[in-house]
Amino acid sequence: MKEFQLIEKFFTKQASSRRDVELGIGDDCALVIPAVNKSIAISCDTLVENVHFYPDIPPKALGYKSLAVNLSDLASMGAEPAWMTLALTLPDVDEEWLTSYSEGLFEAAEYYNIALVGGDTTRGPRSITITVNGQVPTGKALTRNGARNGDWIYVTGTLGDSALGLDVIRGSRQVAPEHQGYLVNRHYYPSPRLLAGQALRNLASSAIDLSDGLLSDIQHVLKLSGMSAVIDVDLLPLSDALKSSVNDEEALSYALTGGEDYELLFSVPEAQKGALEIALANTGVSFAQIGQVSTGDKLRLIRNGQPYTPTNIGFEHFS
Ligand code: ADP
Ligand code: MG
Repeated sequence: MKEFQLIEKFFTKQASSRRDVELGIGDDCALVIPAVNKSIAISCDTLVENVHFYPDIPPKALGYKSLAVNLSDLASMGAEPAWMTLALTLPDVDEEWLTSYSEGLFEAAEYYNIALVGGDTTRGPRSITITVNGQVPTGKALTRNGARNGDWIYVTGTLGDSALGLDVIRGSRQVAPEHQGYLVNRHYYPSPRLLAGQALRNLASSAIDLSDGLLSDIQHVLKLSGMSAVIDVDLLPLSDALKSSVNDEEALSYALTGGEDYELLFSVPEAQKGALEIALANTGVSFAQIGQVSTGDKLRLIRNGQPYTPTNIGFEHFS
């Protein structure tokens, strides 16, 4: 199968189209029509086999996830998805693999209303690069540098499920059968928090999405904001599946350092707290207040009102 046949067969069949796509796949460039008074948010992520995913990942999950992780970056900026490109490097033309991969990709694309407008296809070790473009009213994007002393810190969803899901997939953890599906799905099918991100536009002082783990990602916000924080680990939102699968200490460690949750972490000034809780409740996404921005240069964790040092993780590395 030639490159253009492959593209035609697997990547030109997106069910719905966007009216702001003037020219999609097929020419040397795609043409899109940006909305007035909006800035374009652009982000790109590469997933390399054996580095970011294992060869045994179901191709449909890979299709979904390869887009979802990019959409999560748009969510954390408060942007709305619009257009994307896909650079695909494949060792061979495996039609079964391509069918499932494109199914997963387009499932996420339809759900989040983003159009595939172009890409590139090459032969080599399996690797996927997606570039997403979103739009956000100019001046309203959420950034990492706006956290201020006294702002409240929140996260969406629950933490640690994806990392436990990966351990279940890899066979290094056994969990009760009733939790298995949920945990594996949290790893394979992350939910980019786009509606929450958009709802935060006029309310949050900073935001970031959690890809590497809470303790790691919060440092980016604190560093760029010139702030520190106190996190009450008793307030971390944990799923029933996580809580009933591992002991308390392990659950905290998954929640603090587990990667790939793709939840949002954001800060909100005291004056916006009421408005925030109403705006987020309307999105249907759960959220929890977990701490507060402070001055100083050391992130502090509190458990049962006492300073807390997590076991089993190199916390010194983070403080
Ligand atoms: P060129 O040689 O000009 O780069 P290509 O033959 O690589 O053109 O691509 C032809 C068209 O197909 C272009 O519009 C390109 O954006 C699109 N395309 C190539 N690969 C993909 C892909 N994996 N997914 C979506 N569109 C693709
Ligand atoms: Mg090309």
